[in-house]
Amino acid sequence: MSEPKVILRRCETADPARIRAIIAECFEELQFQPRGRTLIKPNVVTANRQYIHHSHTHPAVTEALAHHLKTRPEVSQITIGESSGFGIPPGLFMHEAGYDALARRLKVRLVDFNEDRATWVDLKKAVAQKGFHVPRSILEADTKIWVPKLKYHICCELTNALKLNIGILQHRDRMAVHDNRLNDKIVDMLEIGYPDCVVTDAIHIGHGFESAPQGFHLGLLLVSNNPLAADAVAGSALGYKPEEIVHLRIARDRGYGSIDLNDIRITGDYPLDEIISKTKGLTSEYQDILAVDTPIKFYCGDAPEHEPENAPSPNCSPSVRRESDSENFCYGGCLAAVKGCLGTIDKRRPGSVARARPGAVVTGIYKGDVIHPGQTAFLIGDCSRVDGRLEAKRVIRLTGCPIGASKLLIKMPSVFKMPSPMSDARSAVQFIYFTLRHALRKLVLKIIPG
Ligand code: SF4
Repeated sequence: MSEPKVILRRCETADPARIRAIIAECFEELQFQPRGRTLIKPNVVTANRQYIHHSHTHPAVTEALAHHLKTRPEVSQITIGESSGFGIPPGLFMHEAGYDALARRLKVRLVDFNEDRATWVDLKKAVAQKGFHVPRSILEADTKIWVPKLKYHICCELTNALKLNIGILQHRDRMAVHDNRLNDKIVDMLEIGYPDCVVTDAIHIGHGFESAPQGFHLGLLLVSNNPLAADAVAGSALGYKPEEIVHLRIARDRGYGSIDLNDIRITGDYPLDEIISKTKGLTSEYQDILAVDTPIKFYCGDAPEHEPENAPSPNCSPSVRRESDSENFCYGGCLAAVKGCLGTIDKRRPGSVARARPGAVVTGIYKGDVIHPGQTAFLIGDCSRVDGRLEAKRVIRLTGCPIGASKLLIKMPSVFKMPSPMSDARSAVQFIYFTLRHALRKLVLKIIPG
């Protein structure tokens, strides 16, 4: 295996010509030679032309990479593949982010992994997600290039190369063990989703809820031959010590490589110290829900005990403790969905969460009292309960493990009197169109032998 190397390059704007030149230089420096069927995996978790602009890899970065690959005779086929956010019909976010228009223009394959044929694969080293339906475009790729968007994350510190692998899961497998085992799940995915190269779009990074973030101009492209090295440096750029990023620690402990910056060769024209000084003081709202400006009070509890063979690894809990000190704290399930719901509502209509109707939200098994006379207590998730006194005018339950984001986006605004993103007429029409399109495509896959 070649020496882990991370190249940090200045890139002020999303100019495809400039990005293409940087990519060509970086590939040469890394001596990286893509060949055969080459899969580009961007992050297109969400997009909305009206109010979500920094959640996804800028199409200009993907375009520049595809253009570069087209100049290489060893590359026989270029595919752009992604499984966008759960609960929304496949294709909708790719359309909103401009990826379908991009693929048509470049004449490259664009695949939503949910509409790809897939083969079940058992993962040999997995701790949490013991297998999944692997899309054919991933299984058959000779070269994998991951093109993440660098963002702070509400419960996993950052999302970059490793976290990008949640987007290789078809929706039917997406939410399995997406609870207090999320950090383990991310590392499990590396067995299939180990990229040959990483090209990170950090021209604008995201902070706040990562699927509806605020943008912050950093002017950086990060290119690496190693996903752990890429994430260790990207995490440092955001102000973390690599050790504080739980999924990196787990990946290191499972033998995927070092996350020590001394073991990584860092080059380029944008010094890491300068990058760190730019992000210094930047906070990412919703990493700590107790700090959110709102009259809603949050009671964040544990997941139920798992059987030993399904339990999270001991170092799976977040190291940067926020809402709970418990080892079994369920950071990655219903609580993450609540954060996402509020973050989306607030991004669409700023100030809505601060003006919400007062009440209580309980996720997981909360040990303590929840006293809200005259208000509503909203218990979210299959396991949600209060091990203590529960007093409220009204108690509402919503089930799921974890709760579905779209289910929550329908109910939560009505309980706490906030404007609902689900009421956008444009989004509703798109939702119906892409649901029908997906059903048709699934039908075609079923009747035409693969
Ligand atoms: S129901 Fe929600 S809080 Fe409970 S274990 Fe599942 S994801 Fe976690």
